[in-house]
Amino acid sequence: GAWYEAVAAYGGAEDDATARLYADAVYDFLGQGLTARTAGGETVRVAPRTVEPDRGKLERAAGDEFGVQSTDYAPALWVPADASNYTVGRTSAITHVVVHVTQGSYAGSISWFQNPSSDVSAHYTIRSSDGQVTQSVREKDTAWHARSGNPYSVGIEHEGYVSDPAWFTDAMYRSSAALTKHLADRYGIPKDRAHIVGHVEVPGNDHTDPGPYWDWSYYMQLVGGSNSGGEVRLTFPAYTSVSTGSTGDLVRAAQHLLNQQGYDAGTADGIFGSGTATAVRSFQTAKGLTADGVVGRRTWTALLTAGTKPVLQQGSTGAAVERLQRGLTAALGRTVDADGVFGPGTDAAVREYQSSRTLTVDGIVGSGTWGALQAGR
Ligand SMILES: [Zn+2]
Repeated sequence: GAWYEAVAAYGGAEDDATARLYADAVYDFLGQGLTARTAGGETVRVAPRTVEPDRGKLERAAGDEFGVQSTDYAPALWVPADASNYTVGRTSAITHVVVHVTQGSYAGSISWFQNPSSDVSAHYTIRSSDGQVTQSVREKDTAWHARSGNPYSVGIEHEGYVSDPAWFTDAMYRSSAALTKHLADRYGIPKDRAHIVGHVEVPGNDHTDPGPYWDWSYYMQLVGGSNSGGEVRLTFPAYTSVSTGSTGDLVRAAQHLLNQQGYDAGTADGIFGSGTATAVRSFQTAKGLTADGVVGRRTWTALLTAGTKPVLQQGSTGAAVERLQRGLTAALGRTVDADGVFGPGTDAAVREYQSSRTLTVDGIVGSGTWGALQAGR
């Protein structure tokens, strides 16, 4: 037990909280006993023994009492990766969560991210025994965990080994799912298997994690999402009213848009229940619309156009143009082709909208026109 500080120092951590994480993991292994294979191919067995650690100066270096909390995700501890193991900022919006398995210990992984020579990092690491979460890279920054997937994803490491399901505890599943749900809600990531993926599923990677023992259907159930892939369809020729009891793709679109904007409509399952109605009323109240829980013309217009307000005019292209075209379809009650290209047809629709809402009729979608659409006018 008195070796504790030496074990902690051997972990190579730069601060006491990480040193303690590392040493505690070693003592956990001693308590459980372990079998390991050395690089030379010999098998080493360590029989279980209980060692009461004498933590010395590290006694108070536990995260809860001592460590710094994450500013991105309140339940997480903050133990930053070395600055040479990630990229500051991002080149893409966050659209995916990537699930990993560490092939090593919790403390060892966190400590490895702090090693300037590792060239790897993940945003979060989760402990098997109790689901404790440590953040190593800010969400706004690009962690190095999934090659081509790095720019658009948040990476979560899970303590354990791909080949041993015993590591995948209920505590770890629940803690990880709560984090993923939080990320999905914050960044508008659809809670489906097209966007919440394993490292193995990211193009251009040769890793197999999280492997065959990772229980995706349980995990996605805990996240509150769907275990199937697929985008939520947002483009329709008409946006008819939906309300309690309605079902189908329009309901799914409304639920998705509500979730994306921070109004918890639950799983986007296409079934308009009381949770969806409550989310609709909250959205309507926030937008100054009649809080009747019915997604009608005005609510559709506000829901479909929410977001940034870039100036758009003939020649503009992209996702914001699609958002505008869908909103015009709802607002005008006629189909405006949502192809993401602002051509003559969109120009005519914008002028029709501006004229009918007594706005300046110039075919330019600036803050005035966006504001009217986003207010559901
Ligand atoms: Zn991985």
